[in-house]
Amino acid sequence: MFDQLGQSLGDVFAGLRKHGSLREQDIQGACEEIKRAMLEADVALSAVKEFFENFAPRTDELTKELADAINPAEELIARAQGALARLLGEGSQQPLRIKADATGLPSPPVILITGLQGSGKTTTSAKLAAHLQEQGYKPLLVSLDFSRPAAEEQLATIAQRANLAIFRQAELAQNNAKSPQEKAIALAELAKKSATSKNTLLICDTAGRMQVDQEAMMEIAGIEKILAPRETLLVADAMLGQEAANVAEKFSKILKISGIILTRLEGDARAGAALSMMSAAKKPIRFAGVGENINDLQAFEPNALASRILGRGDLKGLVEKIQKAVPKETKGEKQAEKAITTGKFDLNAHKKQIQQMRKAGGLQGLAKHLPKAMQSKINDARVKSMVDEKKLRRQEVIIDSMTPAERRNPKIIHASRKKRIAAGASASIVEVNRLLKNHISTAKAMKNMARWDEKMLQRNVGGLFR
Ligand code: GDP
Ligand code: MG
Repeated sequence: MFDQLGQSLGDVFAGLRKHGSLREQDIQGACEEIKRAMLEADVALSAVKEFFENFAPRTDELTKELADAINPAEELIARAQGALARLLGEGSQQPLRIKADATGLPSPPVILITGLQGSGKTTTSAKLAAHLQEQGYKPLLVSLDFSRPAAEEQLATIAQRANLAIFRQAELAQNNAKSPQEKAIALAELAKKSATSKNTLLICDTAGRMQVDQEAMMEIAGIEKILAPRETLLVADAMLGQEAANVAEKFSKILKISGIILTRLEGDARAGAALSMMSAAKKPIRFAGVGENINDLQAFEPNALASRILGRGDLKGLVEKIQKAVPKETKGEKQAEKAITTGKFDLNAHKKQIQQMRKAGGLQGLAKHLPKAMQSKINDARVKSMVDEKKLRRQEVIIDSMTPAERRNPKIIHASRKKRIAAGASASIVEVNRLLKNHISTAKAMKNMARWDEKMLQRNVGGLFR
């Protein structure tokens, strides 16, 4: 993510680090290079200007300010981080307004998902539902896309695979709604009425637009007016670069866009869309789509991202991810001890752990949060094989091929059981042995991981990945 921009900014600051003190011409030179890097990353001109207003409105004053600094280059990088974070929306972030009314039922909050054809609306609707379900909400998906039958089918398939509730268009059969717009409204109203919990919220996927055309926009505007959603979220493809911000601006003229979900961010080396959005479209990015899987949605965190663009890492994010990946059974040292000795960290817990790791993208995914200098340490082939997504999946399959008794008490797994498990998982005995051995060391590692915090990571992170 943002590799190209990160690389060129990294080069600029590496150059500055070589100087003990900075002259005005050094700073001016750096500003020129930063500007070029941003324009090459397809950042809108308005955003580039805004960046420099925050970063270095006047190079002569900045030179004076940095004259006494012990480490002027580092101070400049910190300033750059602050200015980038503001472009990315630091300070404009807010959680989704989806808390149920005091009365809860009968009218659940509605989230309307909109955007251009192919931007990722349907996938993102499901990802958002999964994300909110994890937080305790009861999301109900509904496809308001009547343009082609396959549209609802696509959403239904993803929903089914991820165990998400969907309200089907077939419920509308007896209704005499005619136009796609009428149908969409009638279906959403029906779905609202079907809400069974005060935690229910409705996530409405809508039909895509090939481009921003007036007629189609009026149709969705009509739907928005009647449904009165709490949030109208625009899904935009990061690959469009700064054009994504133009799209957002156009949609904002007709809809009450309350935020952006930027998709395909994982493959975006340039950052033009993300960095242009606030300045050009005045809309905060709320979430980022970072892959095609149901869990590939992240809350958008401007400061952490700015830090990562500048190669400074994001230890706070790393700690959060690790804590999430540690199973509850082993949180806290005492629990960890107990979990191992009483067999509570059994292979079922181990499997959950593998799933959490895969969700976090393996250690490789975690490592993206580290400062650049530390990341190089994990290029070790041994570590790579340990965190290989495919291998994690294999381990899961082997555990699946065990009986519940074996999972609860791995000690009973002797030769004949190993043979059966291996055959069931199309694995070799060697692999089964490796998993069992790995289980013991995982339990031990859990015990340590449960105690990690930010400071500890800073101290130990090198050793961790060696
Ligand atoms: P829609 O037409 O706006 O509903 O778009 P879809 O949800 O059907 O998505 C179009 C394609 O983009 C699908 O193949 C998705 O899997 C893919 N997609 C969506 N979000 C992301 C993302 O964040 N990263 C990547 N790599 N692909 C995505
Ligand atoms: Mg769609």
